[in-house]
Amino acid sequence: MSSKRPVVLITGGSRGIGAAVGQLAAARGYDVAVNYKSDREAAERVVAACQALGATAAAFQGDMAVEDDVVRLFDGAEARLGRLSHVVNNAGVTGKSSRLDQVSAQTIRECLDINVLGALWVAREGARRLSQRHGGMGGSIVNISSIAARLGSAHEYVWYAASKGAIDALTVGLSQELAGDGVRVNAVSPGITRTNIHERSTGDGGRVERLRSKIPLDRIGEPEEVAEAILFLMSDAASYITGANLPVSGGR
Ligand code: NAP
Repeated sequence: MSSKRPVVLITGGSRGIGAAVGQLAAARGYDVAVNYKSDREAAERVVAACQALGATAAAFQGDMAVEDDVVRLFDGAEARLGRLSHVVNNAGVTGKSSRLDQVSAQTIRECLDINVLGALWVAREGARRLSQRHGGMGGSIVNISSIAARLGSAHEYVWYAASKGAIDALTVGLSQELAGDGVRVNAVSPGITRTNIHERSTGDGGRVERLRSKIPLDRIGEPEEVAEAILFLMSDAASYITGANLPVSGGR
């Protein structure tokens, strides 16, 4: 058996759920590539935390909505950390909350550019690098969806819910395409999780506590709890699981 550590690339790894995945992965023996778009300091903090846990880790700037940036990210991560074994397709935004009949075309486009096109660029690049068909070592991809795909997010961001529906379809189809190539593809669908997305992306900081009463477990999820589910799907403990979509939503 190879003594090389597995290497995970996390898009949007500088904050929130992605940052929690990076640190948990480092603690579980992975080397970690942390992608960020604009918050370099936050990305460097995650890298330092991973290194303190014994991992080799590095931060890589790149806008996942830009196809060339995605290719550059994978090239840079492999040059620095070696061949990738895992990808967490996590970067995403909501856009400011409103009804669909009030939202601008720009808000919808920005959301779909990162959440749908960006996720497709990342999944395609992951497929090219990980697949044994293309000389990769096999491994797994975890796409980050949302229970919004099932709930529809009426009065908040229907376009975001639609973008996550695309992630669910991507997960099923790609899992079947890559099943013979040594790559498992799964999704995690978080419910309301305590990150800055609510304030910074939706523009509605009070949302988290307001929606709490709708959650059967009667509390907001923590990013570390979502990270646990992602790390499980990445791990050999999930060796017979592909095409699955695991809700981490407190029963909602
Ligand atoms: P967050 O705290 O707002 O963090 C978002 C991360 O994505 C940051 O690292 C950010 O980097 C990065 N990012 C944003 N746009 C990017 C782009 N174009 N290219 C590269 N990186 C980009 O978000 P989060 O709550 O952790 O959400 C992570 C994922 O979980 C998203 O896909 C989201 O839809 C999903 N999700 C979240 C919740 C929730 O309640 N939090 C629920 C369901 C699903 P910079 O800071 O450098 O811009």
